[in-house]
Amino acid sequence: MDGGNMRNYLRSPETEEKYLRFRSSLPVEHACLLCKKEPIKSYDKWIIIKNDFPYDKIATLHHMIMPKRHTTEPDLTKEERDEFIKIKRKELQSYDIILESTENSSSIRDHYHIHLLDIGN
Ligand SMILES: [Zn+2]
Repeated sequence: MDGGNMRNYLRSPETEEKYLRFRSSLPVEHACLLCKKEPIKSYDKWIIIKNDFPYDKIATLHHMIMPKRHTTEPDLTKEERDEFIKIKRKELQSYDIILESTENSSSIRDHYHIHLLDIGN
């Protein structure tokens, strides 16, 4: 299934429309969306940010974790990978779901990120 299709299962039509409108309002050569975000939590090499366009069909809370550096997953350094595993094993256990889009369905492919969701109460 393509990315737009997948997102329809995760976002309400209103939020998906807001997201698409926001994306299409950006100039083509815009700097990375994720790089501009203010962290709500910061580690040595990773940050956690709030998703302004949450998967609100399923999630009551939607954060994302990403490397501070603008990079794809294959280009993560050993230090970045090691720190991620530590964060995942400890801090990320407070979320209900850790969700990673495949490259096919991700709409931001050049900055690696993972979705952190709470569902229900
Ligand atoms: Zn970026």
